[in-house]
This record gives sequence, C-alpha cells and structure tokens, in this order.
Amino acid sequence: MSYERSNIQSMTGYSSGEQPRQADVIKLNTNENPYPATSAVEKALKAIRVEDLRRYPQPYANGFREEAARYHQLNAENILATNGGDELIRLAITTFVDPGQSIAISEPSYSLYPVLAAIQNCPIVKIDLQDDWQMGPSYADALNDSGAKLAFIVNPHAPSGLLTAVSTLRQIAERFKGVLVIDEAYVDFVDPELGYDAVSLVKEFDNVLILRTMSKGYSLAGLRFAYGIGSEELIAPMLYKTRDSYNTDFISQALATAALSDRAEAAQSWRKVREERVRVEQALQELGLSCAPSQSNFLLAQLPSTDKRYESAEILARECYQRLKDDGILVRYFDMPRLRDKLRITIGTAQENSRLLQQLASYLRPS
Ligand SMILES: *Cc1c(COP(=O)(O)O)cnc(C)c1O
Repeated sequence: MSYERSNIQSMTGYSSGEQPRQADVIKLNTNENPYPATSAVEKALKAIRVEDLRRYPQPYANGFREEAARYHQLNAENILATNGGDELIRLAITTFVDPGQSIAISEPSYSLYPVLAAIQNCPIVKIDLQDDWQMGPSYADALNDSGAKLAFIVNPHAPSGLLTAVSTLRQIAERFKGVLVIDEAYVDFVDPELGYDAVSLVKEFDNVLILRTMSKGYSLAGLRFAYGIGSEELIAPMLYKTRDSYNTDFISQALATAALSDRAEAAQSWRKVREERVRVEQALQELGLSCAPSQSNFLLAQLPSTDKRYESAEILARECYQRLKDDGILVRYFDMPRLRDKLRITIGTAQENSRLLQQLASYLRPS
C-alpha cells in the first residue's frame, strides 16, 4: 500500500553529483569554488556563540536583505533570502504555477527543474537550444506557444557555460506572458569586462525573477543560502505567504551577510577561476577536446571522434570519465541526448587542473 500522491509515486527524485567522503579526491564534478570562503566569513563564523542559537532567527533575514539591496541598488522589498537557490526554485513553482499548468525550460539545463515541477504535478515543456546552445530568435514565441506560466533560463547556461546577452533576455522578458526566472547561479564568474548586468531588468519588468546563490561564487555550498531579486509583486507573495516561517537560519544569515558585504576577496577567486578557465580550455583544445565558450566556472568539453581506438566520441567520453574516476578525479558525465560525447569539468585550482590535464593526456596521447 502506498500513501504517496500518485504524481509523487510516479516521479524520480533528483540525482546529485557524487560527494565522495575521501578527502584526497580531486572534485571537478559539482561546480564548487575551489578556493575557501573569505576571511570575512571566517570571522563572522568565529563570532557566533552558542547562546545566539537559543532564539529564532530573523524571519525575513532583514539584515541580509538590506545588504543585498545595497549591493544591487534596489530596496529590501526586491530581495528574498532562501535556503539555497533550490528553495527559491521550489517557491517560484508553488507560488506562481497551479498544479497541471506548464513550466518551460531550455533543453538541456538544470536537472532539478523537472523534479520540482513533478512535485507540483506540473508538465514540463522542454525547448531545445540550438547547436551552439543559444536560445534562437523565436524563443519567446516558443515559450508563449507552450502555454507556460513560468520559464527558467540559466545564464550563464549550465551545462554549456554560454552567456546570453542582456538585450536578448530583455526581448524575452518583454514578450513572455508568464514569470521568467533567470538563474544566475554562476554569474560571479562572468568576465567583468563584458559589462553583463541583468539585475536592471527587474526594474523594467515585473515578471523577472533573478536567482543568485552563495554556493558557487562565495564558496558556501555547504551553508545553503541564496536569494531572489525581483519586483515587489513577485517577491511579496513568496516572502509573506509561501516561504517556510524560518527558512534561513541564524548562522547562514550571519555568514551570507558577511560574505556579501566584503566581496573583494571572493572577487580574487573569480579572477583566478577565469584565468584557469582560459588555460584549461586551451590545453583541452590541444588534446583534441573542443569546449563551448564558457563564462562560468566549468567547461563542457566534447571528446574527439577521431580516436581510432574508440567506436565513437560517446564511448571515449564515458571511458575518460571512468578512468579519471579510477585515478581519483571526478568530473560530470551526463547520460543524456547531446551530452553523451562530452564531459563537464569544473575549474579547480591550478594544481588540480594540471593533474586533470595530465591524466587526460595520458589516455588520449599515450606515449
Ligand atoms: C548550483 C545551482 C543552483 C543553486 O544551487 P544552491 O546550492 O541550491 O544555491 C541553481 N541553479 C543552477 C543551474 C545551479 O547550478
């Protein structure tokens, strides 16, 4: 006898990237920042006393919201703090979409979206990206034709790393009739010289919700803290109605506020990641792997189909994934259409990246 709702019974849960227990594994599979959180975060952590935990935390995380509002030059009413970006995605779905109404995502993209849609019993409409991972000129029409109430765009895109220009996002936001979530989980790694800034869209459009997380750029994946940026019309119902009463805890509020108020050190880690991204991409290219142009902290590398020892690039990709794993290096392999001949490789420290390149070279160019 099952007590589950029928849609829960028939759905499959999210499958996370592997989180090994051994400390000596080189982890290039879940896009964590390879550098530690900043000294401001460490100081804030050391200042927490056990008696601080006796009382409930600030329900709305107002200290954090004010800090984020200052950073983005908005009001605290435009900010919602959440228990990781994943909670914001769940809140957007439960607040803006009735069960049975559709949710649109680009294909491929973050594999958590269909899981959270299934929980709300919402059909997912997948809109294929072009071969170059761009959304294509009629993307907004495709969204509207799908009847979706809510659409997710990841920018920079995962798993390709491709950055879509704000002008394109603006066109989509203007034409799409539903709520548009722009998932900026990796935005901190975008080259600042590009001048990318989508936050201004929330002032222009009341249907744009931007997701930011402390997990990637701020090296706080273990903390579980993220935030949404949007018009008051979008933020208020999530803040005052659908959110859990104390969705972020005292420790995470204190640490996330410290991280956001002192960003210079984190910015150094973003710069190092960008420099390594360039070096790793070049070295991969020399080994015959081609990467989509990435503005993120990972590369989607396509294996060559010219290696005579392997029947196909798919078989070679799987082989490289497994051999790297056996040699203590984890990367991400997606057994999905258009991704089976590729590996998604997180940018690590210079030393970790060199190890990865050395191992790949030994498989692909045996001497
Ligand atoms: C990591 C990630 C998130 C949010 O992760 P949290 O750790 O829950 O904040 C959201 N979207 C994408 C595409 C991600 O990769």
